[in-house]
Amino acid sequence: MPIQDMTFEGRALVGSELEEKEVLIEVRGGIVHRIEEITGARNSLWLCPAFFNAHTHIGDSIAMDIPAKGSLEELVKPPFGLKHRILADTGKEQIVRSMRATLLAMAGSGQAGFADFREGGIDGVDALRQAVVDIPVMPVIFGRDGGEHVADGIGVSSVRDVRDIESSIRMVRERGGMVAFHAGERDSADIDPALEYEPDLLVHCTHATPRQLARISEMEIPVAVCARSNWKLGVSSSGTRPPLHEMKKQGCKILLGTDNVMFVQPDMWREMEFVATIYRMDPESVLRSAIDGAGLIDHSYYLEEGNPANFLVLDPRISNLHLSRDLHSTLANRAGESSIVNKVFNS
Ligand SMILES: [Zn+2]
Repeated sequence: MPIQDMTFEGRALVGSELEEKEVLIEVRGGIVHRIEEITGARNSLWLCPAFFNAHTHIGDSIAMDIPAKGSLEELVKPPFGLKHRILADTGKEQIVRSMRATLLAMAGSGQAGFADFREGGIDGVDALRQAVVDIPVMPVIFGRDGGEHVADGIGVSSVRDVRDIESSIRMVRERGGMVAFHAGERDSADIDPALEYEPDLLVHCTHATPRQLARISEMEIPVAVCARSNWKLGVSSSGTRPPLHEMKKQGCKILLGTDNVMFVQPDMWREMEFVATIYRMDPESVLRSAIDGAGLIDHSYYLEEGNPANFLVLDPRISNLHLSRDLHSTLANRAGESSIVNKVFNS
């Protein structure tokens, strides 16, 4: 839903600290106009910032759960991985239709924005723009193979997969576009070369070393980790990869992404629960990582006066969630789309 003037009452996670407060929130012209602490809210609704999925490939929705076995390279390495062969063999209309179905699912589950690595050059970027029309989820598109010149930036599949990226990156930079890299997905070797380009976003860093993480932190480059994807693609089978605790210790900005729709449902609730369980991340950090990606485009979904209103209204009475003794933990570990009764999206 775009602009709306409304007030909401309930228990909210307020500000970037996600401080739990009973509040009244007034939305005016799509902006959080006023947040007032109250006692005795008229209902027991929960108000939670919307999510930003920091890494997706929604173009491969068409290949969802296709029975396939193979290495990371055989499945998703351009240009001859299984995924790329399927994309090349599918008509644009069908790709647009499948992306649209995925975008509706993403918005439905509470994502107000996402950052997508889009294959297929200019045509691929155009297909995503067509697919998202009238769906209240904001794409940040990282193109490639020419698509980077009409997108928000360039999304480089590992530096070792592509040649001559210097000129593409320079052109993207000249017009103020962003630069993102897959790096450190199966080993640490392609991280240092990626850092030479001073990217705006690194995706994965599953096998980053402490020294590399220190550098990434110092350069203030956010890292989109895709934990479920790493497990499904066999590049991790441990709660230490990606090294979330080391990332946190080093002060890295951690974002959550769901990666290929082909293998993983783009649902941030499921991603949060997985990360909270397998990596034993505290629920506040997990929630922040699911929200902070909006910062890639200088947006903020946090409930603060003056921010565009991007939040979810959940009714815990629909299920057993009203029994919760810890709002952060219940949101990060148990809640899901079925508890959402309203979405306020103005990204
Ligand atoms: Zn990816």
